[in-house]
Amino acid sequence: MSKPKFQTPTGMHDILPQDQVYYEKIQEVLKKVFSFYDFEKIDTPILEDANLFVRSVGENTDIVEKEMFTLRTKGKDFLALRPEGTASAMRAYIEHGFVSLPQPVRLWYYGPFFRYERPQAGRYRQFNQFGIEIIGEKDPIIDVQSILVMYSILHDLGLKNLMVKINSIGDDDCRSLYRKALVKYLREKKSTLCSDCQRRMKVNPLRVLDCKNEKCQETLSSAPQSVDYLCDECKKHLKDVLEYLDELKVPYCLDSRLVRGLDYYTRTVFEIISTRESENMGDALAGGGRYDNLSKMLGGGEAPACGAAAGVERIVSEMREIKAKVNFPSVPEIFFAQIGPLAKKKSLPILEDLRKAGIKVGEAFGKDALKAQLGKASRLGAKVVLILGQREALNNMILVRNMQTAKQVEVSQEDIIKEVKNILKEK
Ligand code: AMP
Repeated sequence: MSKPKFQTPTGMHDILPQDQVYYEKIQEVLKKVFSFYDFEKIDTPILEDANLFVRSVGENTDIVEKEMFTLRTKGKDFLALRPEGTASAMRAYIEHGFVSLPQPVRLWYYGPFFRYERPQAGRYRQFNQFGIEIIGEKDPIIDVQSILVMYSILHDLGLKNLMVKINSIGDDDCRSLYRKALVKYLREKKSTLCSDCQRRMKVNPLRVLDCKNEKCQETLSSAPQSVDYLCDECKKHLKDVLEYLDELKVPYCLDSRLVRGLDYYTRTVFEIISTRESENMGDALAGGGRYDNLSKMLGGGEAPACGAAAGVERIVSEMREIKAKVNFPSVPEIFFAQIGPLAKKKSLPILEDLRKAGIKVGEAFGKDALKAQLGKASRLGAKVVLILGQREALNNMILVRNMQTAKQVEVSQEDIIKEVKNILKEK
């Protein structure tokens, strides 16, 4: 078969009807967990000023350098399809004066994000994320709450074998000491690094730690670690975070290579991965961290904060693989069949009455032959079939056939709902 002329753009995908159950399950769990933890939903535009991301995520990050979909409007505004959610949430916090609300402000969001990435398993150019931002509090317990909320959602979706990877990259002062030590080390090992890392080493050295190249990984195994350069305050912050995690018994491991190279992160950074053996083992399902300077980077005041985001497609793929429990749509127990033009005309109002009474009804209006309609009823496993023929349509009656007992009665159309409810109760 030849390929259809039009297909989804590279790296983008349709969410087909049969997959919607997973997305609905995620929405259901999000609502429950966010309501418990008192998060309020925010929706921000899909397009933002591109410089919002340049300023916050950072000029020398992959996201901004290579992955942003940007456009110029007719009015010459430079916009970007949002690649992530934190910058927009902080923009909204500043723009709407949320600083005057009781702090911290707890926000959550869900929606599509866009990154011009090389498409591969678990990596799309349009994907969905849900995320949280807790803005206006510097206490380390907030870092742990961010982790816990994401962990609880994944757990409630049925995902097991979850592991939190955690690290601290310090604040501006200790990070700059660490960066210096790292650059010194990388310079000495320059010839063992891939060409990408040799470039990153100059513009964003922390990013080198993320490199998946085997030779680079080998070199990095003895690289300096950020935790060894933390100032006393950052050290205490990390210690507190780990102690809270110990209390919660959330499985975690310190990962000195985890830096999540976006410019806005400070202190805690984390990812949640699945350790289940699979093709995508180790890919982050969720990631986040503290971003105490972001508000100031965007022209706002002091607003320490912490947040996280999770990739919905990756979660769905994991749910599918472990056969997580989802709610498949209920099939109608009642089927409506009609014979002849007058009956067909009277069908829609009868179906409306059943819908208003909360009774789900199947039909096959495109088919006129009773046999074909009953065929569909039996495929659906309908318990009751309502049959409206020419004679019944004229007399305001309807035939009600109980498919389990094969008993058929004629009732007045006014009594359909009562009759159907009785049969359904009998089961
Ligand atoms: P990040 O905003 O990069 O921290 O990503 C947070 C989460 O979003 C990741 O842990 C992934 O689950 C998901 N994610 C990020 N980029 C993509 C992508 N290109 N395609 C699918 N999911 C993604």
